[in-house]
Amino acid sequence: MAKCSYCGTSILFGGVKDEENRFCNERCHEMGFLVQVADRVPQEMLDQQVAATHQGNCPKCRGKGPVDVHTSHWIWSALVLTSWNSKPELCCRSCGIKSKLAGIFVSGLVGWWGFPWGIIVTPIQLIRNVVGLVSGPNPSVASPELQNLVRMELAARLVHASRQEHGVA
Ligand SMILES: [Zn+2]
Ligand SMILES: [Zn+2]
Repeated sequence: MAKCSYCGTSILFGGVKDEENRFCNERCHEMGFLVQVADRVPQEMLDQQVAATHQGNCPKCRGKGPVDVHTSHWIWSALVLTSWNSKPELCCRSCGIKSKLAGIFVSGLVGWWGFPWGIIVTPIQLIRNVVGLVSGPNPSVASPELQNLVRMELAARLVHASRQEHGVA
């Protein structure tokens, strides 16, 4: 069975095709294309941009860096419905701590009230936030997550620039 070249999900029927790859939908197609472009971002350009972002001001509170990817974990439930996600954010450590504390507070309040997933996943999300609070990214070096995020941003910018050059919106 064909698999999506970006996310690896098996494609039952349909999907989006380009020359050699298949994708489950337009979004994966776009992301898959970006990944290919990202592979070709020059290392020097990437290093510069990563250092600038890491040492720059926090995009959230405008405070002093270092800035890195801080991920908070969330869950909310209503009877049989439970929904959870992990939200990576580019920000300084203190903004990251605030998001994780908010994640703990909100998830601790509204995560439990769904069966069975609320009861199973709420403690996992709480623990992930607590682990993030005590460990978090090392402030002295840019994390692989930050490198990846900057790489994808540069790729998106390159694609955008080349599309404008070719007159495609
Ligand atoms: Zn996909
Ligand atoms: Zn901040």
